[in-house]
Amino acid sequence: MDRNISNLITMAELKEKQPKNERVKKPKWLRVKLPTGKEYREVRDVVSEHKLHTICESGNCPNMGECWGAGTATFMILGNVCTRSCGFCAVSTGKPAEADIFEPRRVAESIKLMKVKHAVITSVDRDDLQDGGSIIWEATVRAVRKHSPGTTLETLIPDFGGKWVNLQRIIDVAPEIVSHNLETVRRLTKEVRIQAKYNRSLEVLRRLKEGGMRTKSGIMLGLGETDEEVIEAMDDLRSVGVDVLTLGQYLQPTTKHIAVDKFITPNKFAEYKHIGLEKGFRFVESSPLVRSSYHAEKHLF
Ligand code: SF4
Repeated sequence: MDRNISNLITMAELKEKQPKNERVKKPKWLRVKLPTGKEYREVRDVVSEHKLHTICESGNCPNMGECWGAGTATFMILGNVCTRSCGFCAVSTGKPAEADIFEPRRVAESIKLMKVKHAVITSVDRDDLQDGGSIIWEATVRAVRKHSPGTTLETLIPDFGGKWVNLQRIIDVAPEIVSHNLETVRRLTKEVRIQAKYNRSLEVLRRLKEGGMRTKSGIMLGLGETDEEVIEAMDDLRSVGVDVLTLGQYLQPTTKHIAVDKFITPNKFAEYKHIGLEKGFRFVESSPLVRSSYHAEKHLF
């Protein structure tokens, strides 16, 4: 498919329209309301009382007003310091604290307290640990099941450095959905996810599917990928049986992170959704503000 330039607004074009010394404004479709309201405050209080981390906060997610306002959040386990340094990610990089064996129970108690029907849990990468954090992962899934037997789970997992014995721990506890994000197209992987590998992520997804999991993966757009590359990534994901695809606009968390190359229009996202569904994904969430865990409960089927 030809690259549809007319649907893309380049940063250069946006800058040209802006007076000098003024920050480039996001397109109007990316502006969101600041989080407020009773439900939002309740979620925030539970998270802070139980000393939990959420990717919503650590990742500066633009959907906090909507998700927290609806009583849902994505918990981040194994601390809030990551051993990897992906160029797009707002989570801090460094030497993480020791794994906290009480974390699974705290997460499970909070999910129960918040009466979460479908919980999404993710983690930082823990390449410093022999088990890659998979023992805490397993304990967390078991603890949530014990405290909230009616709650379904989506686990957004790392690649465990390709140590398949660690991945097997996730397969053994069988969350309802297991996600692992490709994040970007093949060509940009080295730049965007420095310590990750495109083929290794596909292998994670292939093994999850072979283990009987419902699988999901996400790609951020606006990093400089072409139409052809997005479609190649869709084909690669389908070739390993991925069921659910999420596509959203990449937003630069700070000036130290990779710059946005383009703001992709809502129409273009709609076109990708159509293509993805034709390729056989059961669900495709594709719009500028979509994040991996956005509307996650809809992907139970
Ligand atoms: S989309 Fe995900 S990360 Fe963002 S606020 Fe909602 S639950 Fe949190």
